[in-house]
Amino acid sequence: MMHGNEPTGFEALLHLIRCGQPQCDWTLVPLVNPSGVDAFTRFTSEGIDLNRRARDHGPLESDLLKSVLASQSFKLALNLHDQRSLFCPNGQAIPSSLSVLAPRCINQGHESYSEPAQAWAGTISSLMQELEPNWGYARFDDAYYPTAFGEWTQELGVPTVTVETGVALEDYSRERVSLRLGEVLRKIDAARNPKLEGITNYRKLPLNASWGVDLELRSGNQSSHWHVWEEVQSQSHSSGIAKAIPQGSGAPVPYQTFNLLKGEFDEIQAKDSWTSLELYAVSSTCLRSFAEALPK
Ligand SMILES: [Zn+2]
Repeated sequence: MMHGNEPTGFEALLHLIRCGQPQCDWTLVPLVNPSGVDAFTRFTSEGIDLNRRARDHGPLESDLLKSVLASQSFKLALNLHDQRSLFCPNGQAIPSSLSVLAPRCINQGHESYSEPAQAWAGTISSLMQELEPNWGYARFDDAYYPTAFGEWTQELGVPTVTVETGVALEDYSRERVSLRLGEVLRKIDAARNPKLEGITNYRKLPLNASWGVDLELRSGNQSSHWHVWEEVQSQSHSSGIAKAIPQGSGAPVPYQTFNLLKGEFDEIQAKDSWTSLELYAVSSTCLRSFAEALPK
């Protein structure tokens, strides 16, 4: 939880801890941004994105993380994040449930990539694919972000993978993906080394595109696009849908389309945002089960 609203990696680490008896020596840092966790925000209470402060002195949170990362010669570093549901594997109409990235690094003045990191990234993706073959898998483009932690750690000489978990159509609450990520960490622990075909697997992954929308509603020749939102305020957690604003350069790719009768369509259309409870109350079968599956 370098970003306080991205708890899936935290849950996966709890799974790893609960399993006990690891083969390898792990250093776990489940929570880097406590003030962001309290507010369920990406940023710290000072408004800082810790993943853009790898090259600075301060704030304290990123200084502490750097001191951990530089304390030993680690064999692998994993930076666990969550991604929003707008990300989909390019060319597929399903959300990216797992995207990986082996960040670029600069060695002796030249941008390069780490083959061990790519091998691990491809291995992590294929281990999850073995468990959940129907989910979406992608890789982020490896543009160089010098202030991000992945690049910084890669340049320390530690093979580094940024792992971005997302939703699956039957797992908007991300419970199953956190469990699966925990299982993948267990498999890494047992294997100790990346798969031989890891680099090939990594390079074959489709790129992460950012034009997915969670829901398309249709009636006759009318249609509208909606994205799922989540909010946490002083102990209460709510979620729902809001009209989607087009993102990125591609045409929106809806993951699910529901055909509604005109009356229902017009009623939903009249508001820009619905909580899942409101949506459940006004809608008929298909949309009602969609509302029911949203995070609670
Ligand atoms: Zn993040």
